[in-house]
Amino acid sequence: MKKKIIIAGAGHGGLAAAAILGEKGYDITVFEKNKRKDMGYDWTDVFQINCFDDAGLPRPPANKYHPSYNITYTNPGKTVHITMPDIQVSSNSIMDRKDLCRYLIRLCEKNGVKFRFGTEIIAPVADKNRVIGMVVRKNDKLSAEFGDLIIDAAGMDSPLRTLLPERFGIQNEIRGSEVFTVYRAFFSKTVASSPEHKYIVHFFHMRKPGISWLITEKNYMDILIGRFGEELTEDDISEALADLRATYPAVGDEIIRGGQVARIPLRRTLPIIVADGYAAIGDSAGMTIPIIGSGIANSIRAGKYLAEAVIDDTDEEYTAKTLWKYQYNYFTNVGNKYVVIDKIKRLASSLSANDVDYLLEKEILSAGELSIGEEQATAMPLSTLSRKFIRAIPKLPFVANTARTFAKFGAVKKILKKMPEEYDKDAVAQWAEQYKNV
Ligand SMILES: Cc1cc2nc3c(=O)[nH]c(=O)nc-3n(C[C@H](O)[C@H](O)[C@H](O)COP(=O)(O)OP(=O)(O)OC[C@H]3O[C@@H](n4cnc5c(N)ncnc54)[C@H](O)[C@@H]3O)c2cc1C
Repeated sequence: MKKKIIIAGAGHGGLAAAAILGEKGYDITVFEKNKRKDMGYDWTDVFQINCFDDAGLPRPPANKYHPSYNITYTNPGKTVHITMPDIQVSSNSIMDRKDLCRYLIRLCEKNGVKFRFGTEIIAPVADKNRVIGMVVRKNDKLSAEFGDLIIDAAGMDSPLRTLLPERFGIQNEIRGSEVFTVYRAFFSKTVASSPEHKYIVHFFHMRKPGISWLITEKNYMDILIGRFGEELTEDDISEALADLRATYPAVGDEIIRGGQVARIPLRRTLPIIVADGYAAIGDSAGMTIPIIGSGIANSIRAGKYLAEAVIDDTDEEYTAKTLWKYQYNYFTNVGNKYVVIDKIKRLASSLSANDVDYLLEKEILSAGELSIGEEQATAMPLSTLSRKFIRAIPKLPFVANTARTFAKFGAVKKILKKMPEEYDKDAVAQWAEQYKNV
């Protein structure tokens, strides 16, 4: 009989791995704090639908998603508008988050995965150097749940990852500049004519580091206000909304959906995501695309690499050594390309709104350089992307020398190449230190 696998939190990557493993007959239980009916944010997401093909999973029904729109970028001064070519549209789809959660849960259940909704994970349980279970709370009652492998899909603030003892070598906190704080809401539409650009992204909106977007839908206006870091106050949101309304009178007053603030990791994948009896996935492992914060497609792709490592571990040991295959394959196929983007994001965070105005007004950054979204990140070689960006830096009148020193893209490539293919504790720890600091 197969050993017991626990999915902690019904995050996308955990569910993708569960669906694959469930089909192979593994004994899998998902523990999720929300009730089934409350699953998923109350809004839509843009992500690459072909992540399902990559993971070997069936796509959601075609009537549940539709192609995304061409993005237009504008600078803080709103003097320049750059509309991206169609390539970005062709790969990205828009799907309701609640539909996506429902679909993944049904897929898992069809494959025999069990769910324990309304069960909050409190802390990991460890025996020496192995994670063996977790403390959970249901209806105010605490109990312990044990498993041979705990897959941590409980998001950025996962109580498992954050409370793992230091000896496991996994970064606990995702904080400060590694975070994107985001307000999202769908507003009513007024009778004023629709904005010229269907999907517009304001860089450094209100001259603060971050982005705001406005998507004009048939029946509502979809607004996102995001800041690099953890600072996004009620006043920031009110001021940004007022500015968007003044710029685009079609934005109405009534909130139709959403209206919450949430946090996403905005960084390269954590240096180590596996330990004996434990694997982190999705936001818990920091798998979003730095800058834009999309994490759904990467999480689902990661689910496949994790499931493969589990299946290949025929002795069902689930140790750091056997799970390393998951980390190695995820990094080499997906995660590594976002390290340069993470550096660009760090650099961008150090710019001022004036710098960003200059970059766009002088056409130093044009559609090519701005193609750092999902499809382009995979399509454009890192060397080209980094060369283009590095060429732009000396032209900036405002950027300090430190920023130039900071952007050593060549070093990134070297470190990524050095990632050990086979697990060796010391070699992995040494590599992780370099990866963290490059
Ligand atoms: C405003 C906003 C807009 C976004 N837009 C996009 C987008 O357009 N495209 C895109 O690709 N990504 C988007 N993202 C990012 C995306 O949400 C994540 O990257 C993606 O969901 C992967 O995260 P995850 O599934 O690992 O974790 P999460 O989505 O955080 O899921 C974690 C799960 O674990 C559960 N959980 C957490 N703690 C506990 C606990 N203690 N006990 C039990 N269960 C627990 C949660 O309830 C949740 O179900 C957006 C995020 C935000 C906040």
